Amino acid sequence: MKPEILGLSLGIFSYCIIITIYLTLYYKTKEQFLKTWSIAVSIALLRFLIEIVQIIYGGILSLEVTDLLISTINPLLYSSGVYQLKRKKFPHVYIYITILICAWLIFSSTDGNIPLMLRLLPNAFFTSFLFVSVGFMFIGLEGRSVGKKITGTSLILWGIHRGIYPFIISAEWAEVSTYFIYFAISLSAAVGVVIYYFQVISQELKQSKDFFEIIAENADDIIFHYRFLPSRKLEFVSPSCNKILGYNQIEFYNDPELILKIIHPDDKHLLDPFEKDFKDPVIMRFNRRNSSVVWLETKISAVKNEKGDILFIEGISRDVTERIDFQKKITESEERYRLMFNLSSAVMLLIDAVNGKIFDANKAACDFYGYSKAQLLHKYISEINTIDDFKNIREEIKIFGSRHFITKHRLASGENRDVEVYTTYEIIGDRELFYSVIHDITEAMKAQEALKENEIRYRTMFEDSSAVMLLIDPVAGKIWDANKAACEFYGYTREEFTGKYITDYNKSLDSPYLEKFIPLVKSGEINYRQYKHLLADGKLVDVEVHVSVIVIKGKELFFSIVHDISDRLKIEMELEHHREHLEDIIEERTLELSQSEERFRRVAENSDDSIIIFDKDLTVQYINPIVEKRNPWLYESILGKKPANFGTPSPLTSEIEYTLKEVLATRNIITRDYTLPDKRVVEFLVLPVLDNNNGEVELLLALGRDVTQRKKLEESLHEALEKEKEINELKTQLVSTVSHEFRTPLAGILSSAELLERYGRKWDEEKYYRHIERIRHSVNNLTLLMEDVLTLGRVESKKIEFKPADIDLNLICNELLEEAVLIASEKHKIEFIKTTIDDNYKTDERLFRLIFSNLLSNAIKYSPDGGKVIFKVSESDKELLFEISDEGIGIPEVDMETLYAPFFRGNSVKHIPGTGLGLPIVKEAIELYNGKIQVTSEVNKGSTFYVTLPKVKFV
Ligand code: ADP
Repeated sequence: MKPEILGLSLGIFSYCIIITIYLTLYYKTKEQFLKTWSIAVSIALLRFLIEIVQIIYGGILSLEVTDLLISTINPLLYSSGVYQLKRKKFPHVYIYITILICAWLIFSSTDGNIPLMLRLLPNAFFTSFLFVSVGFMFIGLEGRSVGKKITGTSLILWGIHRGIYPFIISAEWAEVSTYFIYFAISLSAAVGVVIYYFQVISQELKQSKDFFEIIAENADDIIFHYRFLPSRKLEFVSPSCNKILGYNQIEFYNDPELILKIIHPDDKHLLDPFEKDFKDPVIMRFNRRNSSVVWLETKISAVKNEKGDILFIEGISRDVTERIDFQKKITESEERYRLMFNLSSAVMLLIDAVNGKIFDANKAACDFYGYSKAQLLHKYISEINTIDDFKNIREEIKIFGSRHFITKHRLASGENRDVEVYTTYEIIGDRELFYSVIHDITEAMKAQEALKENEIRYRTMFEDSSAVMLLIDPVAGKIWDANKAACEFYGYTREEFTGKYITDYNKSLDSPYLEKFIPLVKSGEINYRQYKHLLADGKLVDVEVHVSVIVIKGKELFFSIVHDISDRLKIEMELEHHREHLEDIIEERTLELSQSEERFRRVAENSDDSIIIFDKDLTVQYINPIVEKRNPWLYESILGKKPANFGTPSPLTSEIEYTLKEVLATRNIITRDYTLPDKRVVEFLVLPVLDNNNGEVELLLALGRDVTQRKKLEESLHEALEKEKEINELKTQLVSTVSHEFRTPLAGILSSAELLERYGRKWDEEKYYRHIERIRHSVNNLTLLMEDVLTLGRVESKKIEFKPADIDLNLICNELLEEAVLIASEKHKIEFIKTTIDDNYKTDERLFRLIFSNLLSNAIKYSPDGGKVIFKVSESDKELLFEISDEGIGIPEVDMETLYAPFFRGNSVKHIPGTGLGLPIVKEAIELYNGKIQVTSEVNKGSTFYVTLPKVKFV
């Protein structure tokens, strides 16, 4: 093998290694220049391949030119790589020059006259320049590193070699040494890069470690690294632990459990859930060495192994004691504000400025008005105050921010009290509120009135009033008189107080102002002011003074009522300070309100009762879902419609409309039952909702409850009661009748038995058996009676059911006739007339026999003189018609009504035995059949019973 080929192969091998090095470094560092350099090395590799082909196959011109072109582009890539590394813009002029040189190379190689030296010179100079400049740039990179020097120097050497190459090309050794030099230089450049990066990375690492340590050492927070596995050890804790917890680093290092030991006992439980995931930061108390408590907020990140065991945790603990204290103070001050509002002796109201509804009220307000807080919160201010043009005052308060006025307030007891109201306008969040403080000045007003009338009454009113009152001589500017309450309030005796100058105690007034003040009071322009008054003990108190002019004994005096408003001002100040607390209260109330609305909605939406709200024009404003669910016969929604347009049968809607109008007119709550088209019965409760402002009906609330079941129950209960009543009557009747009916045969039995006992043995056989027969007869009668009673009982209590079965009508009638013949005498003539075509019906044979055997036996029984008894059977489309007629005693008109009552017996039939149970049994049996019975009769001519039974044919 030629030595050049060996050198080239070596070159290819080493270039492959270099490419690998650059690419590997590129994937580690993501430095773009490494990619560029790996491309540069790759195309240099191409040059080697071309050289090999040239050596084997001899001078191919195009390959030779390509080789030269690559050797020109190669340094350009190296150079642009370094520019990338230095984050500098690559000069475009290098590209243009390279293009020119390439053009020259192509051109000169086609012209054989140009000597090789001349052809190569531009390329040699320029690439030499590029390599040398790139080499120096590399050396000039930031940081101290041997690597960059190696690479830089290699590039410079490469450049020098390029520069002199055209001059030595003719020498024998030049070609071989060139490959060797290329190989050595490329390799050393690559090695330099590797060393450079190794140094850069380790430096960065060190820097970041230093950085962390600097932060950790100087941090205000406690930074720590705690190892869990293989054994627990605190590996790092920042020195701030000493400042925050009072224990130094060494103490923590020596006792890995120390940090756990100093957790406040009440907060130890927070650790368990926290240790599970360390997700959210935890705030815990720790006991410092000096036993004071510090609040730490700790955030932790944990590193786990594949099994999920924690290897170590790293965290930051921040001292949040101040923040917690601040929060506590805020809640305390909020509570204080609340307490002040609630405990203040002054009557205070918060009123919604938009609709006038009372938004909040303190305890004093509840006491004063005599309502519970809940009641007050449902009221509008218009229900309490008696101002006619409240609207105007509302506007004024809004414009001026606050207003003072005297009005009367209505208490729960109905009493009207004179009050002085001080109202301010507050906008909190999106809510407009009036904040009102109310003073009861009824007594003072009374005193003032009395004062005008006569002095004696004035004395008592003035003296006894609990309000602080002063009479002032405006000309002298002195106190003319003060009541007991005033003396107590200011702390003077009456003697000390009278004669004092106004300016002695009123620190807000000075003499010149007073001069202007007097005429204003007289003209009524000023009657209300806020001042600071000085008490005997030197305390300055905020007061509100109501002044008016009165004349006593011809003297014009100022009558002043003084209120201590320090309490109110204190709250106002607090209010100012803690507006956000007021906001909280408002938020809370708003939430409550929305909740109560939400609650209503929830109740309404889930109610089993229909809820419909009508406005006063009877238009439906709201329906809950059940209305449409329950009433599919409402073809379309009734929302927004009046009853007349509900699209349902008019009697129902007009009835509803009528009820609504009635409630509108009477304002009474009205309950009515309506039967809906689907037969359900609904109980409708309609109640008026009054407008709080004017007391007029605003809405009508209709609640519909399905009472179908209840109605049914009521009905069946009613029926059961009726039945019960009937049965009771029946029982009494039964007892009396039965006892009577039984007594006769029993008496017969008894007397026959006694006679038999006494004389039986002496009697002849015939007489003996007559009595035995009498006993048997009576027993038979009794048995019959018992049977009848039982049958009636069974039929009435529906114990005998209507159980139709297939019968042969002809057969059964004939059997009945045969039985009738048995009880008839020779005087009777029994006829059977049957005109039905078909004999196959379904019927209950037992009931059928019961009906007709009774009727036939009656017909025979009640025609003792004989005559015709006719049993006629005919039919209509749907019914079988029966007629049983006799020519007997007939039924008098008076008996007709009670004919079917149990135990009823006609007046004219006492001599004919019977129980009075036959016809009742017949009637009940026919009812079970769903049939009918009628009778026509004429006394002494005869009776006809007509029975109609529905046909149930069988096929
Ligand atoms: P009883 O026949 O046992 O008296 P019923 O209930 O069968 O009881 O009859 C009630 C009463 O109706 C009889 O007492 C009688 O006064 C009258 N009555 C019933 N059927 C006839 C009839 N076919 N002719 C006349 N009176 C009759």
